[in-house]
Amino acid sequence: MHEFSAACSIVEAAVEGAKGHDITKVTAVNIDLGEFTFLIPEQLAFNFEIASQNTIVEGAELRINPVKGRLECTDCGYEGEVEPDPEIPEQIAMFAPMKCPKCKSSATMITGGKEFVITNIEAEVET
Ligand SMILES: [Zn+2]
Repeated sequence: MHEFSAACSIVEAAVEGAKGHDITKVTAVNIDLGEFTFLIPEQLAFNFEIASQNTIVEGAELRINPVKGRLECTDCGYEGEVEPDPEIPEQIAMFAPMKCPKCKSSATMITGGKEFVITNIEAEVET
């Protein structure tokens, strides 16, 4: 239930963000979602719907902007996009070092793809 706790934290942040702005209803929440969070967008949207029930965020649309994983290799200097290894289960891949797509070295640093942030909240304000 990785996605459910993630969905809850989005809802909490959106509710928190809406406070003190005379917002009557949050209509959309935009987020950046990095590939290395290993969250499945469809699952996240589904859990978001459940988690937002009976809050000001209920019925809001979750718009997910996927962010590609990137890494930097300290061995060969490669810097760029990388696909998660489909052979490694995600429970392990989350903690395992990513292999360089060029030289297969594990001496890599992840430079992108761990994003999990709300970039924008759209809401209706009381008039
Ligand atoms: Zn390399």
